[in-house]
Amino acid sequence: MLKDFLNTEIAFVKGIGPIKAEALSEDLDIKTIKDLIYHYPFRYIDKTVVSPIKDITTEVSVHIKGILISKKIVKASRTSILNATLKDSSGFIELTWFKGIKYIDKYLDLNKEYYAYGKASRYKGKLTIAHPELEAVQSANKTLSHFEPVYSSTEKLNRLGFDSKAKRKAIENILNKLNTYEIAETLPNYIVSKLKLCTRKQALNWIHFPPDQESLTKANNRIKFEEVFFFQLKMLYSKSQMSLKFKGHIFEKVGTYFNLFYTKKLSFELTNAQKRVIKEIRSDMGSGMQMNRLLQGDVGSGKTMVGLLSMLIAKDNDYQSVLMAPTEILAQQHFTSITESLSGTGVQAAFLSGSVKGKSRKKVLHHLKEGSIDILIGTHAVLEDPVVFKNLGLAIIDEQHRFGVMQRSRLWTKSLDSKPPHILVMTATPIPRTLAMTIYGDLEVSIIDELPPGRKAIHTLHKTEYHRPQVVEFLHQEIKKGRQIYIVYPLIEESEKLDLADLQQGYEKLLQYFPPPKYKISIVHGRMKPRDKDLEMQRFAEGTTHIMVATTVIEVGVNVPNASVMVIENTERFGLSQLHQLRGRVGRGAEQSYCILMSGYKLSKEARTRIKTMVETNDGFQIAEVDLKLRGPGDIQGTRQSGVKEFKLFNIVADQEMLATSRKIAQIILEKDPQLEHPENLILIKRLKYLNPNEKDWGKIS
Ligand code: ADP
Ligand code: MG
Repeated sequence: MLKDFLNTEIAFVKGIGPIKAEALSEDLDIKTIKDLIYHYPFRYIDKTVVSPIKDITTEVSVHIKGILISKKIVKASRTSILNATLKDSSGFIELTWFKGIKYIDKYLDLNKEYYAYGKASRYKGKLTIAHPELEAVQSANKTLSHFEPVYSSTEKLNRLGFDSKAKRKAIENILNKLNTYEIAETLPNYIVSKLKLCTRKQALNWIHFPPDQESLTKANNRIKFEEVFFFQLKMLYSKSQMSLKFKGHIFEKVGTYFNLFYTKKLSFELTNAQKRVIKEIRSDMGSGMQMNRLLQGDVGSGKTMVGLLSMLIAKDNDYQSVLMAPTEILAQQHFTSITESLSGTGVQAAFLSGSVKGKSRKKVLHHLKEGSIDILIGTHAVLEDPVVFKNLGLAIIDEQHRFGVMQRSRLWTKSLDSKPPHILVMTATPIPRTLAMTIYGDLEVSIIDELPPGRKAIHTLHKTEYHRPQVVEFLHQEIKKGRQIYIVYPLIEESEKLDLADLQQGYEKLLQYFPPPKYKISIVHGRMKPRDKDLEMQRFAEGTTHIMVATTVIEVGVNVPNASVMVIENTERFGLSQLHQLRGRVGRGAEQSYCILMSGYKLSKEARTRIKTMVETNDGFQIAEVDLKLRGPGDIQGTRQSGVKEFKLFNIVADQEMLATSRKIAQIILEKDPQLEHPENLILIKRLKYLNPNEKDWGKIS
């Protein structure tokens, strides 16, 4: 059976055996025949194209063809070097070997024609390729493929003689055998024909041994599409299963509280982006489905106001709401500004965190259960078991990246009516739309891409140690104007000690520039107790201290409008999105704000790009796009759990269009056939089960 063949242990494959099998398993996680054929080449040598030697440039791989006109072994002190010269009609090039000399020497015949492949470099003015791949033109395998696959290998595997070439042979053998079986389709016919995809069998053969560029492209397309399509289908299918299981509260009216607030209390015009998002939320909450929406918007774009208006819609429909923030300070700030906004409206808000204890805690819990509190604002404490709502209709989570999915799901059971609330997750860490679609495929995404009018853009400058006196002078001036300053040091978990030393040193230097008692400096770092941290943050927020020196623990979202300068030390050690987050701490007041990026003189190309991007733009989404390109999706928040890393060929940056197409197709299929039970779609449910054997939901379906 095909299945047995695919699951055969790699050790039993001709030419592999137990020793190589162990290395394959350890180094590349290849254990079965299936693993090996899903181990795709990482590039191809196009043997249909050879470059004239005179056109060769260094540092790129080149494929040339020429006659061997000389070879000699040069004895050096300890080792020997094999030099050979290849000539074509346009010039000469030297080939060099430092290892395996005897073996290669035997293989090289003068006046014979060879293909050589490798990276050229210039050594003492001479063009050289070290350790080229070499093949006699005579014996080159023309029938199989012009595009020769190259597989990633490791030193150990090379040593065992299982290099790319050996792997090529093994895979060739396996494919020959595989092609005697019937290779079943995984996609319904209507998709294959609509998208003009090649068959699975073709794809598997062509991805390893493409006869030409066109087949390679087709194989690539087919495999990429499958990877991303089933990923999307799985996510959307689970989501629709959930919404079938859980009906949402229906908020049908926008009533007195919302309208009163909107017309009487709101002191500014909402931005168009805010209006659009509120419409999206209203339509979700009125749909009969449970809302699960992610709201993205840069710091200061007015997400909280959108949250508040949504909670008023809940109130208009006689439901309670909760707003959860990741820290005590942030929750406090929300509570203060929201109660202020709500004064005179008759809407009741309450605060709950770990620090609310005894009688006042009891009172809050009681009123929640009884329903006389309309809006609860707090920290994780709102998730604790004793917290029970009469009828929780809407839960808002601010700065979601601090909360896991588990915590989100705890909100589902908080209400006496045991119906899950609508959920709105807010984040100021922008994620490019394509990535959001992938990692938060179970959430709808709203974006506020517009700041309220009149905000002054933050000036961002790049400075080095050389400019330090100038920077210090500038800070003095800002303090004289009554402003406050953040100075941030990087914190990398593994070297926390070292960073703490940096911070301490920086702090002491700062004391010289800004001597007490005239100047007051706060310091906050990860080693401090949360309570002390909060206290120090509070002193800064109140304006008691002039400067806040901190590692990156500065709380996301904390609002100190009077702070107008953010100085970031060792900027090169921060990631882009982190830099953007930090910059968002300033620019919250009416004054012109600044972000000063301090760095060393020597910068890597990547660090240079990060700094340049920061200097050039304030747009969080643009920054997120650059970040995605620089780091790849694997390192971006939330992607690790998402399975994005499972993609072998699909590339979230390069293949955005395909992502959108595949999602669209999955949506259309599920709209027409939510249970995937139409005969032509059975193949899809079968594949989903096969790809996700541990998912419990599939079990119920069959
Ligand atoms: P976010 O949570 O997105 O960082 P906030 O909701 O805290 O942003 O809003 C930042 C500030 O801007 C708040 O003081 C808020 O009152 C104000 N604000 C929000 N929307 C508008 C608007 N449309 N016009 C003017 N100011 C606004
Ligand atoms: Mg906020």
